[in-house]
Amino acid sequence: MAANNREMLDVAIIGSGPAAFTAALYVARENSSATVYERESIGGLAGTISNIENYPGFTGTGMELMGKMREQAESFGAKTEYGECTAVKKLKKHFELMIDDTSVLAKTVLVATGSERRKLGIPGEDLPGISYCATCDAPMTTGKEVLVVGGGNTAAQEAFHLLKYCVSVKLLVRSGLRCNDVLKDRLKKEPRIEVITGVVPTEIERKEGQLYVNTEKSGVFVADNLFIFVGAGPATKFLPAEILAEDGSVKTRQNMETEIDGLFAAGDCRLGSVKQAVVAAGEGAAAARGMSKYLEELRHTGA
Ligand SMILES: Cc1cc2nc3c(=O)[nH]c(=O)nc-3n(C[C@H](O)[C@H](O)[C@H](O)COP(=O)(O)OP(=O)(O)OC[C@H]3O[C@@H](n4cnc5c(N)ncnc54)[C@H](O)[C@@H]3O)c2cc1C
Repeated sequence: MAANNREMLDVAIIGSGPAAFTAALYVARENSSATVYERESIGGLAGTISNIENYPGFTGTGMELMGKMREQAESFGAKTEYGECTAVKKLKKHFELMIDDTSVLAKTVLVATGSERRKLGIPGEDLPGISYCATCDAPMTTGKEVLVVGGGNTAAQEAFHLLKYCVSVKLLVRSGLRCNDVLKDRLKKEPRIEVITGVVPTEIERKEGQLYVNTEKSGVFVADNLFIFVGAGPATKFLPAEILAEDGSVKTRQNMETEIDGLFAAGDCRLGSVKQAVVAAGEGAAAARGMSKYLEELRHTGA
């Protein structure tokens, strides 16, 4: 217990993707107390993947994989709670985290917050009917015509996923397609996806249940549903600037520890991350080893 009798966690983990639950499994197996904090959807971005074919030993949906990871970590005593971490501060020998409006104390912290979707930065982009996750919201497009904004790999992949439900997709691309050649080829051959280039949305409006996308020079596009996939960046705005690289990702040493002793990072939010679920899980395991060692050192110094 902390000096003021508040509970002190051994390990606080921010995020609930593969990096987070792998780390939780490792530290909980060693009898350290660990809580995973998630602000949105438990399972992280990995939980939204419709079909995972490259996670060794597993095939199925991301939701299934993440359900198993959570179950396994919790079977050893790890806890999972909803809440957004808005600040992490190093006090003398431990950390204070703000989780929503609550202060949480922990001896060591893992940042496993992955990446967050970029927005267009135009009025109306949070209206109902606009989504940033095809896996989550594709079923509501059944029998409808759909607009997708974006021209990268994610936009193209998600457009194909939407076709399982909707009638057709208009892919609105700012300049040229930036997706890989395989996807470009598939797009060319798919009569139900129309790629329209040179489209710069300026405002989105909703009238009588339909979405109107006003653009700079390409007129107005109307549809029942709109999906926006215009890139992603590390979800690290709440962290001290000293541990962040220019692009906002977290800089770490070899054992996944940042320049702040006891503060670790793993997965897609980390500088140099490969942005794959299996790698995030591996980094979670490596960070857990580092955290266990750090806790051991704290015990030896009597902290
Ligand atoms: C369309 C698409 C398809 C993909 N397909 C594959 C695939 O087939 N195979 C593969 O290996 N990888 C795939 N990936 C990549 C894979 O999803 C990621 O590499 C993996 O999810 C990263 O795991 P992570 O643990 O770093 O974080 P994530 O899975 O991104 O989880 C991070 C979590 O942290 C939460 N969070 C963020 N900030 C806070 C905060 N301040 N407080 C509390 N919680 C917070 C987020 O809400 C999120 O739930 C795909 C990605 C996309 C976009």
